[in-house]
Amino acid sequence: MLSGLHFLLTYMCNAECDHCFVYSSPRAQGTFTTNQIRQLLDEATKIGTIEWIYFEGGEPFLFYPVMLEGIKMARKRGFRVGIVTNAYFATSVEDIKLWLKPLSELGIDDFRTSNDPYHYENKEDNPAIRTQKAALELNLPAAEIHIEEPSVTTGEAQHKGEPVIGGTTMFRGRAVEKLTADLPRKSWNKFTTCPYEDLEYPSRVHLDVYGNVHICQGISMGNVWETPLAKLVENYDAGSHPICGPLVRGGPALLAREYQTKCEGQYVDPCHFCYLLRLELLDKFPEYLTPRQVYGIETG
Ligand code: SF4
Repeated sequence: MLSGLHFLLTYMCNAECDHCFVYSSPRAQGTFTTNQIRQLLDEATKIGTIEWIYFEGGEPFLFYPVMLEGIKMARKRGFRVGIVTNAYFATSVEDIKLWLKPLSELGIDDFRTSNDPYHYENKEDNPAIRTQKAALELNLPAAEIHIEEPSVTTGEAQHKGEPVIGGTTMFRGRAVEKLTADLPRKSWNKFTTCPYEDLEYPSRVHLDVYGNVHICQGISMGNVWETPLAKLVENYDAGSHPICGPLVRGGPALLAREYQTKCEGQYVDPCHFCYLLRLELLDKFPEYLTPRQVYGIETG
């Protein structure tokens, strides 16, 4: 049951993290207007099962007035609202409260700041920690998102001495380009399931300004500027989706076999393999593997 819509309010970000799923950067284009958000929130009410609306990116605080208006519209329609930010704007706790007070007044149900080695080296004091403090003082339900860099350990609990990749980095988007070089790999035909997304019955999807409904980053259900969101969701059938169908039936290994790709080789994990397969299939399925910028292809 689809219960969450996550607006990628903008692909733009002040940062350019190595692990970013969607290749955000200060150069990235693609930001929602308030009118577009309004249209999609109206569609969200028609779906009937949506409980949560998230505003994330990119960095949503870069378009603060639009984010605020989006939150107002979502709250007016009775949705619970979440926000994800890297807290780039944080200086003193006093000043952070100037940014957060309007959010507190509107009623936010989940306020997440990214606090991990990708964003901040100083673990004792950084903008995310200061923002958490200010948020809690304003009674915002603050929590952090912490993603560890990949590390290789020996997996005693697994097969004897087999290397295990620790950390919580997902190998999609820029992480594939930047973080996979020295990690141990396995043969492509071992990756027979998608371990991280429920592609058949997604509980949340991400929306971007181009109209894409991401089931996993860069895999689109369809385009909401061509087919209304409620209809797209109602008609979605993973089995007949050219990318999700094979992934559900047999993971990235089956996706590679069905389209006879050249990707036979060794990969870090299923997502690493899946992402590179999709890169190879971009021109074959441009309406489902989109937008190209989340595959690191600058289009503007
Ligand atoms: S295997 Fe593919 S579809 Fe599944 S979570 Fe990884 S990247 Fe996404």
